[in-house]
Amino acid sequence: MAGLAVAVVNHAGIPTAVAPRPTPVTPRSAEGALEELLAGNARYVANRPTSGQRDVRALRSQTEDTQTPFAAVLGCADSRVPVELVFDQSIGQLFVTRVAGNFATPEIIASLEYGVAVLKVRTILVLGHAHCGAVKAAMKTESVPGQISSLYAPLRQAVQQSGGDVEKAVMINARLQADLLRTSSTVIHEAVAARHLTVAAGVYDLVSGKVTIV
Ligand SMILES: [Zn+2]
Repeated sequence: MAGLAVAVVNHAGIPTAVAPRPTPVTPRSAEGALEELLAGNARYVANRPTSGQRDVRALRSQTEDTQTPFAAVLGCADSRVPVELVFDQSIGQLFVTRVAGNFATPEIIASLEYGVAVLKVRTILVLGHAHCGAVKAAMKTESVPGQISSLYAPLRQAVQQSGGDVEKAVMINARLQADLLRTSSTVIHEAVAARHLTVAAGVYDLVSGKVTIV
């Protein structure tokens, strides 16, 4: 499919050239999907994103009745990790689940299973990030208001294996949650076995913007 054309006009409003709009990339292989996520992240890191040039009004119309995201992401609720921006993607491209501490609950797994079984996403990336408040809180296990402490138990194993190092706990947690997705869900397990899906773990650096697969 050709990229959408954009008319370029001079100061008098007369069209002078036609510049191509970026064509959306919709990889349909498991390896290609993870590669596109990382390529989008590289554009974001280099401060050369292209998703902002997409016509969101057209995208909203095109996706009114259907969605075909190529990747799913399990990310943290943290405001500093906006998933579509981090991977330079737009409407209809990512199927995103978020919870503080980016861990897999039954509801998160069910949502990702929908992404795999129905929407046919080709990769799931569990995305932890540096300076994660949920991980720090789980390490301290201090008394907190409301139900915030319910975040502690799912992060306990990573905290125990980290030796008290927050950034190590973030990395271990991303790996453990990716393992949990591969083993606890028959839908995900079978898609991986059939090579229709990859499940990966990554960590996001708040300053550089880079996602590193761990
Ligand atoms: Zn976090």
